[in-house]
Amino acid sequence: MRKITGLCFALMVMVGVAAAQEQDFSKIQSRITKVAGNIYMIDGTGGFAGGNIGVSVGDDGILIVDDQFAPLADKIQAALKGVTDKPVRFVLNTHFHGDHTNGNRYWGQHATIIAHDNVRVRMATGNPDPNPDMHREPAPKVALPVITFNETATVHINGEDIRAVHFPHGHTDGDAVVWFTQSNVVHMGDDFFNGVFPFIDVDSGGSVQGLIKNIEEIIPQLKPDTKIIPGHGALATVDDLKKYLAFLKDTYAIVGAGVKKGQTLEQLKKEHVLAKYDNWAWDAITANDYVEVLYKDITHEKEGFRAH
Ligand SMILES: [Zn+2]
Repeated sequence: MRKITGLCFALMVMVGVAAAQEQDFSKIQSRITKVAGNIYMIDGTGGFAGGNIGVSVGDDGILIVDDQFAPLADKIQAALKGVTDKPVRFVLNTHFHGDHTNGNRYWGQHATIIAHDNVRVRMATGNPDPNPDMHREPAPKVALPVITFNETATVHINGEDIRAVHFPHGHTDGDAVVWFTQSNVVHMGDDFFNGVFPFIDVDSGGSVQGLIKNIEEIIPQLKPDTKIIPGHGALATVDDLKKYLAFLKDTYAIVGAGVKKGQTLEQLKKEHVLAKYDNWAWDAITANDYVEVLYKDITHEKEGFRAH
């Protein structure tokens, strides 16, 4: 494994900078849980498995929302077999990050991949930045979305209208939120980290203020009993999403006030300004990682993340 100089390794794996092959997936168990109607969620235990997978199951076959990492494909397939023998026919990607799309290179051999226009562009071009903390190789052709959309796309399968809706400049510039309209389930992709510090990819068109605006737009469209699959964290309720919105606003205000006073990133970290959210830390993102995201978003610094 090469030496990591800037971003912590888990964060690099999330974005897709570090190759999935460099991570040890042997201890990860894939777990499938019923959400509501004919919708299931697959997550992983025993390590960082990537983003939560949404699953539509029925007579027409399987549609999955996101597909984690290619080395986990066998485990994901085994979890699906516990529910149905039908094949995976469609993959819907919520955004381009490796922990949601790396599995495309396996599933793309058998299924049709659908995503927002910018997901295909970012995967196809990679990131030529010579800085090893930013550099991303282009994805192989088999992993690229075959059908792309700009605003919305609907897949009519298993008696359900599965509707992907693009929200601009949130976690990235290519996010889709996926509504399973009959089952009353929504997959929010990485526009929602439930109860854990989020990553917002301001280098790839993401914006904290944009994300806040998107969530404010989404909440009134949910029913009180809508089940929400977050990009990361446990299966959620509308109240959990409201709590996340309040967290984003509060933490943005705290770091914004520090920046206004002239505090540097190092000072903000040293002062532990987000101490009241200590229990939001997890294996991929620390409080300091998240302070860096906010600082970068607020100051529009573009030179890349520094070591922590
Ligand atoms: Zn992401």
